Amino acid sequence: MTNFSRRALLGAQPKAARSTLIRGADLLTMDTQLGEMPGTDLLIEDGLITKIGKGLKAPAGAQIIDAKGMILMPGMVDSHRHTWETPFLGELVKTEPKRYSNYIPFNNQRVGVCMTADDVYLGNWLGGTIMIDGGVTSVLDQAHVIHTAEKGDAAGKGLQDSGIGGVFCFQITHSPTYGAGDTLPAAQAAAEFGAGADVAHLAWAKSTRDKYFTDKKAPLRFGIGLSGLSVGPKRTIDNVAWELEQARALSPFLMTLHGHTIMHLEKAGLLGADMHVSHGNGLSDEELAIMAKRGVKLGCSTMGEYAYDQPQIHGRARAAGVSVGIGMDVPVALCHDYFEHTRNSFWSLYRSPQGTKLAEDYTSTDVLAFATSLGAKSLGIGDETGSLTIGKRADLVLLNTGRIGFAMMGSLADRVVNFAHWQDIDSVWVAGTLRKHKGAMIGVDWGMLKKKAHDMQARVIPQAESIIFT
Ligand SMILES: [Zn+2]
Repeated sequence: MTNFSRRALLGAQPKAARSTLIRGADLLTMDTQLGEMPGTDLLIEDGLITKIGKGLKAPAGAQIIDAKGMILMPGMVDSHRHTWETPFLGELVKTEPKRYSNYIPFNNQRVGVCMTADDVYLGNWLGGTIMIDGGVTSVLDQAHVIHTAEKGDAAGKGLQDSGIGGVFCFQITHSPTYGAGDTLPAAQAAAEFGAGADVAHLAWAKSTRDKYFTDKKAPLRFGIGLSGLSVGPKRTIDNVAWELEQARALSPFLMTLHGHTIMHLEKAGLLGADMHVSHGNGLSDEELAIMAKRGVKLGCSTMGEYAYDQPQIHGRARAAGVSVGIGMDVPVALCHDYFEHTRNSFWSLYRSPQGTKLAEDYTSTDVLAFATSLGAKSLGIGDETGSLTIGKRADLVLLNTGRIGFAMMGSLADRVVNFAHWQDIDSVWVAGTLRKHKGAMIGVDWGMLKKKAHDMQARVIPQAESIIFT
C-alpha cells in the first residue's frame, strides 16, 4: 500500500477518439522517405498513424480536424529531464550563476528531501502536463527525488497520469539520513547524494514497476536512474558491477546516468544498449566510438550546457553514430519553450571547432531531428515515435502559422526550427489521444494547479532552508 493520496490533482483524463482524420495539413513528417508533404491528410486509428495521403475518407464516427494552412509535425522528445522540479520553476536560474551554483546543495539535497509523496506526484503531473502543452510527447525523466517507496510510486504514477510517453527512470540512489530542521556537515549530505544504489531503493523500484508499469504497450516505459558509476578511492568496479546487475534484474527499458565513465565500464564488459548517458561533454572520439558500437545512448542538454567548461557534444556524437537527443535537464531553471532548446542544439554547435564544421552541412531538418526522430532513437523508441510514419504512434503537434512574424517562406523545417514558438501550438496528440486543442490543454485547470504549486512552495522552501549544512 502506498500513502500518497493523489489528491494533488484529479483532472479528468481525456479519452482517445477511436479514429481521427486530420485534413489538409502541411506535413513535416521527419520520415526520410516521405519528407515534407503539403496539403495532406493523416488518419489516426487506435492510437496509431494508419494512413497518410490526399483525399482520405473519414471512417464512420471519426473526429475530423480541419488543418488547412497549419503544420503537422511529430511530437517532440526530451532526452534528459528531472520533471519533479517543475513546480519550482524560476527558483534558481542559470542567468544568476552564483545562485545557480547552489543547485545540487539546495535543490537536490534540501528541497527534494523536504517534498512529500503528494508533492512529488504534483511535480511530475505538472511537469508532464507542461511538456505536452509545449509539444513534447516523450521524455526521459530521471526522477532523482525518490527517498521513500511512496515517493517512488508518486513519481511514476504522477508522470503516467499526465499522459506523456517516454521512459520514467526510477532513481535507485540517495537515502538522506536528515530532514527539515537538521544541521549536518555539507560533506555528509554530498556523500549521501553521491552514493551508489542501495537495496531499499531497488526493492521500491520493483514495487513501483509492478504496480504501474506492467502494460508493455503503454507509451510510458519503466526505467532506472543509476548512480554516476565512477570508480575511485571509495568505490570499486565490483560495486559498480553489482549496481548494474541489480538494476538489470529489474528489466528496465533503459538505465540512465549522469556523467560518463565509458572506458572503465567497457573494460569490465558492462556497457550495453540498455544504457543512456546524459551530458557527456568531454567524451573522447574513442569513447564515442565505443558508445556507438555498444548502442549506448546519449542525452545532451544543449542550452544548459552553455555554462559548462567543455562544449556541447551532440554534433560529434551524432557524427560518430551514437543515438543522441537533446533535453532541458533542469525545469527549475530553463525556458520551457522546447523550440528554443531545438534552436539551441544548432547554435551551440559553434562552441567547438568540430561542431562548427559539422554545422556547415546541416539542414533545418537535421536540426529538428535532434528533437524528434533522432531524439526518439536516443530513448530506444525510434521505431515507435519521432516521425509521421504509418504504423508509428500518433504523437503529433499541430502548429498555427497565422501569427504575426511566423515565417512565410522556406521549407516547413526552416520555418519551424527558426520561427516556431510554444504559442503557435494549436493541438497535441499523445498516442492518438487529443490532449491540447485550439491552444488549450483539455481537462487542465491551470489556476488550480498554480495554487497547488504555490502552496507547495510556501511549505517546502522554508523547510529546505531550515536544513543547515556546515
Ligand atoms: Zn540532469
